[in-house]
Amino acid sequence: MQNLTILGATGSIGASTLKVVSENLSSFAIYALVGGKNVAKMAELCSVWKPKFAVLNEEADASELKRLLPSDTRTEVLFGQQAMCMVSESNDVDVVMAAIVGAAGLLPTLAAVKAGKRVLLANKEALVMSGKLFMDAVNESGAQLLPVDSEHNAIFQCLPANIQTNLGNCLLAESGINHILLTGSGGPFRYTDVSALSSVTPAQAIAHPNWSMGPKISVDSATMMNKGLEFIEARWLFNTNREQLKVVIHPQSVIHSMVQYNDGSVLAQMGQPDMATPIAYSMSYPDRIPSGVAPLDFTTIGELTFMAPDYAKYPCLALAMDACFEGQHATTAINAANEIAVEAFLSEKIRFTDISVVNERVMSKVCSANEFIQLDNLETILELDRMARNYAREFVRSI
Ligand code: NAD
Ligand code: MG
Repeated sequence: MQNLTILGATGSIGASTLKVVSENLSSFAIYALVGGKNVAKMAELCSVWKPKFAVLNEEADASELKRLLPSDTRTEVLFGQQAMCMVSESNDVDVVMAAIVGAAGLLPTLAAVKAGKRVLLANKEALVMSGKLFMDAVNESGAQLLPVDSEHNAIFQCLPANIQTNLGNCLLAESGINHILLTGSGGPFRYTDVSALSSVTPAQAIAHPNWSMGPKISVDSATMMNKGLEFIEARWLFNTNREQLKVVIHPQSVIHSMVQYNDGSVLAQMGQPDMATPIAYSMSYPDRIPSGVAPLDFTTIGELTFMAPDYAKYPCLALAMDACFEGQHATTAINAANEIAVEAFLSEKIRFTDISVVNERVMSKVCSANEFIQLDNLETILELDRMARNYAREFVRSI
């Protein structure tokens, strides 16, 4: 029996994780559930799962949760980042699902990494903002890092065991790998004319054609910033150079990514667009457990198609790909800027097309200032994250 902490339990990945747990009750027990602001959802989850700890971000929300739980509850309610770290690094925990959205997930995820846990990484922003520091922490502690992001999980499944068990350290070429093909659906606007993008609404942007996800990643999928963040995520997880990572649009989301070997073989992982599959694999690796996901029916899929990304339509993708090999300052800055820009778009303060403008301005401002080139500790990374957010807020106000 493995004890599981779920960071981001009240979100979309949290729900899919609990769905997989419910298929495998003899293998997993819930130790702690962590969430942001959704008190009602957390109360509901506590009554079903009876975790030892429930952690929310703010004290007032924790008090409200205590009020909602029955007086004889066995769940201890806590709040704040320190408590989130405590339930991630506790000796009683075996596995941590890292699925808080955005930079807010970095410290608890790192706490799990430093404690040498099996860490199931959905929170790509944590890796994007801290890159080498994060991977170094994995190496030092001996944590077992398993990618949950469907593309990275697919790539992981297509790689040889020596790379799977030593993520971030192997040279792909030594295993006969030519490059990795990161696939993306192109989001809801893949067939929309570029000229129409400035007037799209938040509701249209979060209506993803294939996947059901939280609002931030849904907007990121529409701008393809999500693929850009995934490009950076893949660079760290699989230790690639620029030529070894390619992005291809695959509208049907049946293939979740591929690995091209030097002998001409291409290995692809396929499945339904349901996160329960990669989550189950990350929970059971190297074994396989039931995920509750229906098998693919190839007779009903029809066509699988592919095309090159149009960078004029997806400027955020081009920016993030540039940031990836520019350096840590660029990826930390663009991640922070994007969180602010997406929030501003969702609250209708800026247009959809302004997201890339904010990201570009913050990135060039940070890249032209030399003092951030050495980002080799957490304090300077967090300081740059804060500064980039402030720049982004200024740009948002000026639009
Ligand atoms: P979501 O918005 O549905 O859920 C986010 C979770 O984070 C919620 O539980 C929320 O309460 C919590 N949270 C937010 N701010 C917090 C804070 N300050 N402290 C503690 N908790 C906080 O998002 P999601 O779609 O579940 O995505 C979660 C992460 O997984 C993101 O990093 C996303 O990029 C990644 N991811 C998601 C999918 C998907 O299909 N949903 C796929 C791949 C990767
Ligand atoms: Mg993904």
